Order: sequence, then C-alpha cells, then structure tokens
Amino acid sequence: MTTRRSGQQSGARGRHSRRKSYRGQWFAVTALAVLGTVVVAHPDVAHRQSLAAEVVAGANEPTVEAPVTAVVTPTPVVTPTQKFTTPLRPAPTLTRKPKGAKPNVLVSTGKLAVVPGFDKATGVRDKLTYRVEIEQGVSVNGAAVAAAIHKTLTDPRGWQAVHPVSFERTDKVDADLRIILATPALTDKLCLPLDTGGEVSCRVEDRVVLNAKRWMYAIPAYNGNVDLYRSYLVNHEVGHALGHGHSTCTKPKTPAPVMMQQTKGLAGCLPNAWPTIKAT
Ligand SMILES: [Zn+2]
Repeated sequence: MTTRRSGQQSGARGRHSRRKSYRGQWFAVTALAVLGTVVVAHPDVAHRQSLAAEVVAGANEPTVEAPVTAVVTPTPVVTPTQKFTTPLRPAPTLTRKPKGAKPNVLVSTGKLAVVPGFDKATGVRDKLTYRVEIEQGVSVNGAAVAAAIHKTLTDPRGWQAVHPVSFERTDKVDADLRIILATPALTDKLCLPLDTGGEVSCRVEDRVVLNAKRWMYAIPAYNGNVDLYRSYLVNHEVGHALGHGHSTCTKPKTPAPVMMQQTKGLAGCLPNAWPTIKAT
C-alpha cells in the first residue's frame, strides 16, 4: 500500500515538479517493469517486491502521467507482499463442546416435574383430564410443550372428532392421564414391561410416555416437520389410552394411519398425525 499513499501525498506538489521529474519517472517505470517481471517469475523473493514499491514511492506522482500499461504492471507485485507478511495463525481447536450448544434430551435426572397450569376443555362431552410432566434437565420449555399437547388433543382433526371426549389439562394429582416427556433412559423405565429400547414412546396404564429424543428430533420420514411428528406422537399414544390398537399401512402413498407405529417406518405411506385423516 506504500505506492498508493505516496502518490496521494505527492499529488499537491505534482504540477510544478512534473517536468523536472519526467525523466525520473521513465527510469522508475522502467525499473518497475523489470522488477515486476523478476518478481512474478520468482514470487518467493519478497524483499524485491518491497524494493519495487519503494522505487515507485520515490518517483513522485507516477500514477498521473505514466502510461496506463506501465502503471498496471506492478499491481500484482505489491499484493502478494501483503499476503506473505501477514502472520498465519491456525484456527483454534475446541477440546470440548461449548456448554448448552446442544439441547439435552439424553442425560437423565430421573426426576419428573409437573407443568403448572390449566387448559379448559372445549367440549361438554366426557371430560378426560391430563397432567403434563417433564423430566427435569431436559432442554424444553414446559409451557410450550403443554401448549403443543393441548393444541393437538383439541384439534378438529383429532380424537375429539372421533370419540365423545374432550381433553382438559390440569396440574392436579387426580388427573385421568399423565402425559410424560422423558429422556430415553427414563422412558424405558416408565414403559416397563414394554420394551421401548431408548428410541420409541409408549402408553402404560395411566402413563403416556413421550421419548424426548423423538420429541426433539422426530424421525427422518417426517422431513423436518417436527411439529407434525409431535402431534403424531401425542395422538398415537393417547389413542392407545382410548382403546385403540396398532394398524398398518395398507395402501402406499396414502396417509399412514395414526395408530401405525410410524416411528419404526412408514412402509410406503405418508406421514400423518390425525385419526380423522385416512387412506381413501
Ligand atoms: Zn403404539
């Protein structure tokens, strides 16, 4: 950058000294062109590039009157000097992951906490109350989880359209159903004697146990539509509580039945979370 700065500084006195220095410019430009050729041929000779820059600086306002081709020539000579003199620092290597970088769905505390609050039933039919419990330490917002569950259960495409039932969320101990979000380890314990293998969810007695790993990451077949998968998870397990057994994909490329074990694969069917949506 020496070249440019010198050119700017000398610009003010350039007009009266122009004639005198014309010969000097010619030498400078010629020397520059020669040096440029040498340096391009031997790009590792860094000090010669610096020298080239100094010659230009001493030539007084060369950028104004020198032929365009001569001025353009040194440009590639100066640039690599900057690169060679810049210290190269290797990128730091992280020895451990930053805290909180990934949501925790795997480290089990084994302790459940009830999400406080109520969500009134929207219907007057047989009321089924449920309580939401979340394993402490799981990286989820309890209120958001409870809201998502209630939205699914009261959706017009959900079980309320199939059964004479309405869902109401409570935090009382006498709830009809406990909907629990737990790490895979606690899910496996709460689901016994069923085998959930750290991967799937279950319903046992009054417990609907949702595997937090699935809640967080869904399954590949849902193509990133985690909200839809969460609705499937809730409706499938609550469907068991309402007395429904498993069903299978009978017609590929049609919506999978909500009571299909979709987490284990869709068998050619399409993702579907709703009991009212069926293959036609
Ligand atoms: Zn099932």
